Amino acid sequence: MNKIILPGATLGMLGGGQLGKMFTTAAQTMGYKVIVLEPDVNSPAGVIADQHICAKYTDETALAQLAELCDAVTTEFENIPATVLSYLEAKTVVHPSSKALSSTQNRLVEKAFIESLGINVAPYAPIRNMADIDAIADTFKFPAIIKAASFGYDGKGQAVCENADDVRVAFKTLKEVECVLEQRINLEREISTVLARSQSGEITNFPVAENVHINGILHSTTAPSNVSEQQAQSAIEMADKIADGLDYVGTMAVEFFISKEGDILANEIAPRPHNSGHFTLDACETSQFEQQVRMLCGLPSGNCELVTPVVMINLLGDVWGNSQPHWETLLSQPQNKLHLYGKKEARPGRKMGHFNTLATDTEQATEIALQAFEDLKAD
Ligand code: ATP
Ligand code: MG
Repeated sequence: MNKIILPGATLGMLGGGQLGKMFTTAAQTMGYKVIVLEPDVNSPAGVIADQHICAKYTDETALAQLAELCDAVTTEFENIPATVLSYLEAKTVVHPSSKALSSTQNRLVEKAFIESLGINVAPYAPIRNMADIDAIADTFKFPAIIKAASFGYDGKGQAVCENADDVRVAFKTLKEVECVLEQRINLEREISTVLARSQSGEITNFPVAENVHINGILHSTTAPSNVSEQQAQSAIEMADKIADGLDYVGTMAVEFFISKEGDILANEIAPRPHNSGHFTLDACETSQFEQQVRMLCGLPSGNCELVTPVVMINLLGDVWGNSQPHWETLLSQPQNKLHLYGKKEARPGRKMGHFNTLATDTEQATEIALQAFEDLKAD
């Protein structure tokens, strides 16, 4: 049944990172209270929430308290143990479901699920032991990328391999955890699509966006993307099929590779709002976080249309150096919309914030954004 939860109610968020923070802001703006469960005392979402339960995700007393206090619970983080969600499901409304989440927590399970829907992924092989490497050594098409099957993000737990010996070394470095070996695709471009699926199965799609990664971490997102209308449509259809297949409720994203040969391959599913959807905060009528609140609360989805061309640039800890970035140029141009997550320590590779540059076309937005980004770099 489609249960509608109205403002004044309390929503629970598992995870206190920037995605949880932007959900909390959207929910509070609409008049909901938010309780964040997060082990870190100083998390971006925890400090702005109406209440912060500072405990491990697996702490049963904390979970019971969350379920007791919240009308519905969601997550910002796919590695929440599915058992935690099933525990909460028995006590309150939870979206996305533990079942949907568990299909995306392990890359091998995720790829098999995507393939079962008739959607292509990069050619891959499971690597669970040294014998698996011997078995594919002569046939696998290198170069390849080995990835830990679980708990990877921002390119962590990955290594490029030119041959089977590299795979053996990397597998050892990864402590022989379950891995997937993926053929490295000759990329023409990368795109992603964020969508929202309601409790009754209606889907709304944000525009397809184009992503640039540096060292496995998202650097920039541009919308609208440069892909053909046909490619954008195919990506949206595949993402929607995945959301239906998961019986997903909430905001989610799918990342795609487009190869030089023109093939569209699904890379991975994010069962939550996604970094490549941050442009929606300033450039769409509804943000991916408002949409997350709407789906959780059984409200109709907001309009996803792009209001203006936009370029989003991620701000990693690297930009801080030994001091604060030079914010002057960025902030002197009102087209640049700055979002900082309030993280105390700026470490290399750590996502500290992002900014969206709005302009009349993506070329102009790119030019302004890149200049502002260059001018930020601390001495
Ligand atoms: P995140 O969750 O932050 O997206 P992740 O750690 O899950 O990151 P992936 O999405 O698997 O990492 O990979 C990060 C980036 O590395 C990709 O967006 C792409 O740029 C590059 N990459 C990964 N796998 C491949 C591949 N098989 N072929 C070509 N490039 C790849
Ligand atoms: Mg990725």
